[in-house]
Amino acid sequence: MGGLTTAAILSDLGRKVCVLEQHYTAGGFTHSYERAGYEWDVGVHYIGEVGAATRTRKMFDYLSNGQLEWAPMADEYDRFYVGDKVFNAVAGKDEFRNNLIRQFPNETQAIDLYMRLLDRTGDALSAFGMGRGMSKLQRFAMKPWTAWKLRGAFRRITYDVLSDLTDDQDLIATLCGQWGDMGMPPRRSPFMAHAMIARHYLYGGYYPVGGSWRMAETIIPKIQAAGGEVFTYAKVEKILVENGRVAGVEMKDGHRIRCDCIISSAGVDNTFSHLLPEDVAIKSGYRQRLTSVTPSMAHLGVYIGLKGTAEELGLPKTNFWIYPGNNYDKAVDAFMDNPDAPFPVVYISFPSAKDPDYENRHPGTATIEIVAPAPYERFEKWREETWGKRGDDYEALKEALGSRLMETLYDKLPHLRGKVDYYEVSTPLSTNWFGGYQRGELYGLEHSQQRLKQDWLRPKTTIPGLWLTGQDVLTAGVTGAMMAGLITTMSMVGARKMGPLLRRIYA
Ligand SMILES: Cc1cc2nc3c(=O)[nH]c(=O)nc-3n(C[C@H](O)[C@H](O)[C@H](O)COP(=O)(O)OP(=O)(O)OC[C@H]3O[C@@H](n4cnc5c(N)ncnc54)[C@H](O)[C@@H]3O)c2cc1C
Repeated sequence: MGGLTTAAILSDLGRKVCVLEQHYTAGGFTHSYERAGYEWDVGVHYIGEVGAATRTRKMFDYLSNGQLEWAPMADEYDRFYVGDKVFNAVAGKDEFRNNLIRQFPNETQAIDLYMRLLDRTGDALSAFGMGRGMSKLQRFAMKPWTAWKLRGAFRRITYDVLSDLTDDQDLIATLCGQWGDMGMPPRRSPFMAHAMIARHYLYGGYYPVGGSWRMAETIIPKIQAAGGEVFTYAKVEKILVENGRVAGVEMKDGHRIRCDCIISSAGVDNTFSHLLPEDVAIKSGYRQRLTSVTPSMAHLGVYIGLKGTAEELGLPKTNFWIYPGNNYDKAVDAFMDNPDAPFPVVYISFPSAKDPDYENRHPGTATIEIVAPAPYERFEKWREETWGKRGDDYEALKEALGSRLMETLYDKLPHLRGKVDYYEVSTPLSTNWFGGYQRGELYGLEHSQQRLKQDWLRPKTTIPGLWLTGQDVLTAGVTGAMMAGLITTMSMVGARKMGPLLRRIYA
C-alpha cells in the first residue's frame, strides 16, 4: 500500500513510475489469494474511518478513482472473549462510550476521561505524521508545537495511562482488546500506538467490497495512465549506488534497471540490511541505527473454506478476539517461554460474511481466517527450504498448530464442526516467502516507545535519490502505509507542488 500510494500520487504529478514487486501479485499485505475454490485476504481484516468523508476515505477515493467501495461490519465489530467473560466494542463514538458504561457501570468517570484522551489523538497523530515528512529546518521550527501535541499520555506506556484512570482490570482488558491490531500488549505499547488503533476503529470496521485485492486493482490504473507499470515476479536484489547516490537496481535475475530515484517500501530492515550495498549502509549509519529497532511479532494464519454461505452457516460480521485472561502481557510472556502454553490471543475473522460480493465470486461457499502469534525461532530451521517443500516435520508442526487453532474456533462456534471443507496453515516463513519480511514480522518494525523516537524513520534518507515509504515510515495498518505514501510524495516534491493536488483530494 505504501509503494502503490507513492507511485499513484507521483504518477498523477506527471512522473512515470516503475513498481517492482517480488510476489506473483501486487498489493503486499493487501493482496488476496485463491485456492481450492476459496479466496482469502492475508493482511486486511477491517479498515476504520471509511464510513464518512474522512481524510482516510477521501484518500482511498482519490487513489481508486472512486472505484473502491466499503461494506460496514456489524455494529458490534469486535468481540473480546476474556477468560470466561465476554466484552465488545460497538461502532460510533457515543455508542462506544455508552456500551462501555453498560458493561462497566461503576467506571463512568474513567471511561469519560479515556474518551477525552482519544479526542486528543487525532492532533497527536497529525503532529507525528507531519514531523516525519518535514525537513530538518521545519522540524526545528515546529519542535515546540510537535512536543505540545505529543505531550503527556502519548509518550507513556498504555497500561500506565489506563491504570491512572481505573483499577478495573477487565475494563483495561476491554479497552486494549484490539492490541493485536498493532502487535504490542498494553504493558509494552506506547499509548500513542494504542490510541491510534482505538481511534481508527471508533466509528466501526469496514471491509473492501470485492475483497482486499480490490485495493491494488483500483490503484494500479492511475500508475498506468501516466505511462508507468507494476511488474510482479520482480525481485530487487540490490540497490545500486554510484558516486554516493542511487544509480538503479539489480534484479534477482541479474538484470539491471538504471534510474536516479528509488523509493523502497520493502521495510527498513530489508532496505538497509539486504538491498543497500553493505559499505553504503554502514558508512551512512543506517546499519547501526537498525540496532535501535526490533521486528514486530510473527504470526500463524489459518485459512478455512466451508461449504455453505456465510448466511447459511450463521457467520458473523464481527471479529472475535479470544484471550486466556485479562493480563495480556503475562499470557504473551508465558507463550514466548513455552509455545505449548495457551495462545495469548487468537483472532478470528469472517471475510466472506463481511464482503457482500463474495457470494458472486464463490457461490455457495464461505471463509474464515484465524491469526495467532508465533515465535519465529520455532520455524527458523526450515528458512532455507522452498515453500511447499519443507518436509514432513514442518508439515506436522503446522498441522498440530492448525488443529489447536481450529479447536478454538469450534469452542466458540461448535455448529461449524463437520462443516469445514478445507484449511491450510501459514507460518512466519510464509510471511518471509511471500512478503519478504526477514523474521516473518507481522507489522514491520515493532511499535515500541523506542521506535517512535527514531528520527531517521522518515521518507528522506541521507543517500541522494533513495526514499522510504510504507508502514515503517509512519505506522502499521493499511491506512498507516497509505498515509506514509502521501508523506513520502510530499517530502519528494515539496508542499508547494502538492498543494493543488491536496486541495483536489480533500475538497
Ligand atoms: C495478518 C495480518 C492482518 C492485518 N490486518 C489488518 C487490518 O485488518 N487492517 C489494517 O489496516 N491493517 C492490517 N494489517 C497490516 C497491514 O496489512 C500492513 O500494515 C500494510 O499493508 C503494510 O503495507 P506496506 O506497504 O508498508 O508493506 P507491504 O504490504 O508488506 O508491502 C511491501 C511489499 O514489498 C515487497 N518486497 C519486499 N522485498 C522486495 C524486494 N526485494 N523486491 C521487490 N519487492 C519486494 C513485498 O512483497 C510487499 O509486496 C494486517 C497485517 C497482517 C500481517
